[in-house]
Amino acid sequence: MVVQLQHIAKVYQLEGQSVAALKDISLNIEEGEYVSIMGPSGSGKSTLLHMLSLLDTPTSGKIIFKDKQVEKYTEAQLAKVRNREIGFVFQQFNLLAKTSALENVALPLVYANVPEEERHERAKRLLERVGLGQRLNNTRAQLSGGQQQRVAIARALVNDPAILYADEPTGNLDSTSGQEVLRIFEELHAEGKTIVIVTHEPDIAKLARRQIVVKDGLIVSDTKHHHTHTVKKGVKT
Ligand code: ADP
Ligand code: MG
Repeated sequence: MVVQLQHIAKVYQLEGQSVAALKDISLNIEEGEYVSIMGPSGSGKSTLLHMLSLLDTPTSGKIIFKDKQVEKYTEAQLAKVRNREIGFVFQQFNLLAKTSALENVALPLVYANVPEEERHERAKRLLERVGLGQRLNNTRAQLSGGQQQRVAIARALVNDPAILYADEPTGNLDSTSGQEVLRIFEELHAEGKTIVIVTHEPDIAKLARRQIVVKDGLIVSDTKHHHTHTVKKGVKT
């Protein structure tokens, strides 16, 4: 098991009002699973992802991440777990502006004290892996949106994380680039990576092998299915 939530609630305080973003969420994610989280706007998807990815702590309940109970960890302890074990892909690609694709991907390894030569070697291998072997020295302005998102995926994988989280990863992409990103997730899943993707698009959710639907801070369905949908082939660089 990679991560487990036990009776998680999250209440935000906003201008004297309490907002119960998550009410009573219990959930296990096993190694190698490909999971989608779907639900209407405001249903708690991002808050749930923040709990699963240790970006924020719950109001009540327990979080077990790789056999450690972590919900009472300090921010510094949580940051350490995140840096080593968790990869993120966001709707906004969040690449550094005047930095090459290679340096963007290698950056998490600087914090992990990996020597420069190995950093570059690993970053290069991952950029090749996402079809950007010819774009190592391009800066953000020299990459399309789809290419930037593929750099972000390479960056998320460079520490070989236990789990990869993506929050609306195709939300800012045209459909061809979006398909390309989803095809990479499909390949990563085939290689055994554990992936959780948040989306409000049913067609994307269906690509995952397990679909969780949240509504009003609760899980309203959690189903597994055999894969029947496919992502279009064709690499765009
Ligand atoms: P989703 O990602 O499904 O759109 P969120 O998890 O972002 O939903 O939000 C769930 C609920 O919690 C919403 O009512 C939202 O307004 C509220 N919320 C989210 N983040 C905060 C915050 N930092 N402070 C106050 N309320 C928040
Ligand atoms: Mg959200």
